[in-house]
Amino acid sequence: MKKDDCIFCKIANGEIPSDTVYDDEHFRAILDLSPASKGHTLVLPKEHFDDALSADEMTVGEIFKTAAKIAAAVKKTMDCDGINIVQNNGEAAGQTVHHLHVHIIPRYSSEKEKIVTWVQHESEPAEQKDIAARIAAKLS
Ligand code: AMP
Ligand code: ZN
Repeated sequence: MKKDDCIFCKIANGEIPSDTVYDDEHFRAILDLSPASKGHTLVLPKEHFDDALSADEMTVGEIFKTAAKIAAAVKKTMDCDGINIVQNNGEAAGQTVHHLHVHIIPRYSSEKEKIVTWVQHESEPAEQKDIAARIAAKLS
């Protein structure tokens, strides 16, 4: 289903023009309007899902397969040294457009700044065990 007030629904379904690099029955890949680096590409499903957690299994699986295929073409085209494949869920995780999308970000050895980064903290073994058990329980 499309969502009326969603810009990525309109872009994915060709109602708003975009710099499209790939288009099939279920997905469209476009260049990001404000790229982190040249060739920064977004893969959008044509159906609306807010994020990966609310999308069906097929869509989540296929969007990452599609992203990996497009990333290979981006790497050849841009002649970059690496690629980040990134997907944000929720504002706290940096999501600004609430229509599921996967970022393909070309990376160059010459870059000074890190685009995808986090601070590593020490872990506490007892707490780790407790967290692991609680997550595992939700999956069983
Ligand atoms: P996120 O922060 O993960 O939600 O990523 C949203 C991305 O969409 C950002 O990198 C924006 O630069 C990009 N973006 C927003 N509007 C457009 C648009 N109209 N066309 C292409 N990219 C867009
Ligand atoms: Zn949408």
